[in-house]
Amino acid sequence: MGNSYFYPSLARDAGTCDRGQAAPLHGAYAGENVPNPLPQERNNQVSVMNLIAALESLAPELERGLDQALDLSKLEEIRVEFLGRKGRLAQIMARLPELSPEEKPAVGKKANEIKARLNTLFDAHKHTLEKSGEKAYLTRFDATLPGALPWLGSMHPISQVTEEICSVFEALGYDVVDGLEVETDFHNFQALNFPKDHPARDMQDTLYVNEGVVLRTHTSPMQVRSMLARKAPPLAIVAPGKVYRRDSDMTHSPMFHQIEGLLVDKGISLRDLRGSLTAFVRRLFGPAVGVRFRPSFFPFTEPSAEVDISCIMCSGKGALHGETCRVCKGTGWLEILGCGMVDPNVYKAVGFDEECTGFAFGLGVERVAMLKYGIGDLRLFFENNVRFLGQFA
Ligand SMILES: [Zn+2]
Repeated sequence: MGNSYFYPSLARDAGTCDRGQAAPLHGAYAGENVPNPLPQERNNQVSVMNLIAALESLAPELERGLDQALDLSKLEEIRVEFLGRKGRLAQIMARLPELSPEEKPAVGKKANEIKARLNTLFDAHKHTLEKSGEKAYLTRFDATLPGALPWLGSMHPISQVTEEICSVFEALGYDVVDGLEVETDFHNFQALNFPKDHPARDMQDTLYVNEGVVLRTHTSPMQVRSMLARKAPPLAIVAPGKVYRRDSDMTHSPMFHQIEGLLVDKGISLRDLRGSLTAFVRRLFGPAVGVRFRPSFFPFTEPSAEVDISCIMCSGKGALHGETCRVCKGTGWLEILGCGMVDPNVYKAVGFDEECTGFAFGLGVERVAMLKYGIGDLRLFFENNVRFLGQFA
C-alpha cells in the first residue's frame, strides 16, 4: 500500500494506513501551520482509508486541545475548529463525493460515530469548565451579605395622613364625602357667603377655568353639595381632597390637600365645636398636646376661630437646646386648623331651616404631615423622589 498520497507528517506519524493506525493529522489547535491532510489526487482505495484515518485522528486531537482550554471562550474556539461549518470534520466530509457510491456508507458511518464522539468529549469538558467556574464563584460568594430587596410600593404620606384624619372623624360619626375638583362659582363662593368683591376671589388666588367655573379653592363646596343633597339636618361630613390656588413657595403649592368638615343639627353650640375639635387634635397629636382657640375671620362662619396646638418640637416651650425653636418661631404654638359656627347666610343659600346651627372646620393635610414627620419643605411631597417617599413605607 503506497502512502505517497499522504502529506509528510501523516506519512511519518501514521506509517501506512493498512496498519490501521490513526494518528494526529496536524496540530492546528496549537496554531501549527500544516498542509491539508487529505490526498490531492483521486485514488479511491487510498481515499477511503485516508478519510477514515483522518476521522479517527480527530478525537485524540480534540482531547489534547481540550486539555489546553481553560476557559469557555477558548473552548468555543476549539469547537469551531473541529465542529464548525468549515471545521476539520466538515473539511473531511467535503471529500466524500469523491468516493464511489459503494464506499460512501462506510465513511459516512464512521463520520457519524466520530461526530458523536467529538460532541460527547466537548460537552463533558464544557460541563467540567462550567462546574469549576461555579465553584470559583461560590468561594467568592458571601452568603452573609444582605440580599437585594425589591422595591415595595407604599401609600404616599399625604394619603396616609388623609386616611388617619378621616378615620378619627369617622369614629366620631362623620361621613367621608368626595367631590369635584372643578367647581361652579356658586358652590365654591356664592353659597359660602363670599361676596363678589371678596379678596379670596381675586385672580391672584383663584385659578379660573372660565367665567363662573373655577378649580376649587377649598373642599367647602362639598359642604354645600351635601346640604343640598340632604335637604335638612342633621348632617356630619368631612370632605378630603385636592384644592388649587395660585401660590408656590416652601410652604405653599398651587395644588394641595384639605380636609373640611361640617356638623349641622338643632342646638349645636360653640361648646360642641370646642369639644369635637379638641378631641380630634388630641387623637391625632397625643393626649398631652395643648390646644387653644384664637378669634379669627372666615366669610362663611361667625364667630370664627383658629386652633393652635402646643409646638410638638419644643413641647410648647418656644426653645430647644437653648435656642429659639424654628418650628414655632419661639411662640410655643402651631396653627393647625380654622373653624367657626356656620353663618346663617349659608343655610339660606342651601334652603336649610334657619333655626338649625352647626360648625365647620378645615385644615391643610400637608401642614399636618410636615409637623407630624418634621418636614421643612412642602414641595418634597410632590417631587416623586422615591428615596424621600420610601421613608414613609
Ligand atoms: Zn416649637
